[in-house]
Amino acid sequence: MRLFVANWKMHKSRSEARAFVEQLGARIGDRPLSDELVLAPPLTCLDAARDPKGRWSLAAQDVAAEAEGAFTGEVSAAMLADAGCRYVIVGHSERRRIFGEEDDLLARKLARVREAGLAPIYCLGESEEERSKGQTSSVLERQTRTLAGDPVDAPLVVAYEPVWAIGTGRAATPEDAAAARAQLAGLLSRRRNLRLIYGGSVTPENAAELLRSSSVDGFLVGGASLDAPSFARIAGLAA
Ligand code: PEP
Repeated sequence: MRLFVANWKMHKSRSEARAFVEQLGARIGDRPLSDELVLAPPLTCLDAARDPKGRWSLAAQDVAAEAEGAFTGEVSAAMLADAGCRYVIVGHSERRRIFGEEDDLLARKLARVREAGLAPIYCLGESEEERSKGQTSSVLERQTRTLAGDPVDAPLVVAYEPVWAIGTGRAATPEDAAAARAQLAGLLSRRRNLRLIYGGSVTPENAAELLRSSSVDGFLVGGASLDAPSFARIAGLAA
């Protein structure tokens, strides 16, 4: 099953989330879905973003590295499971870059996600500078090492998100996405339940070609996921 994840980042009030849900629900109707849809709203909108009919599931955008305790402002993986999440995004480049999250912290987050019975959507990808220095492969290799302690049998989603493509309007070419996909599939060949998705300036206009020519298993979508019809088109849901 292909996977389409809407990462709303720090956008939307509860009423905006409800309006989105209504629009997306109307677009899907009762048709059987052959792909999987996931919404990753801000935590304040988790309830509002839930589908009473279960046509999509919920993801959190981040999680605490600790299980419980005096960590003001943090939300644990068990709390996210209790709030109805199925997935947690771990290692988004904004967390790495703006909040200084590094590999050892991300490995601890991954462990907490598993303990709570959730599945990670683990993000990785090279920066513009790393790309220009020809370091893309070594960056991907290093960033997959964070998964070393993650159980190989457990379902895993890895999102290749080159930093230079996120929010820039400059998506990777299908060839770039295919090359990263092939490398990641090789690095993670022991995984028995792996989906490799792509993220970075995916739009309704470029989605079909990216899917067809790069053989990725779906998308992690930021900006274009804020609008329900746009997210629906990316997921191949015709009006
Ligand atoms: C993202 O932040 O994960 C992302 C892919 O953003 P955008 O689609 O806006 O590039």
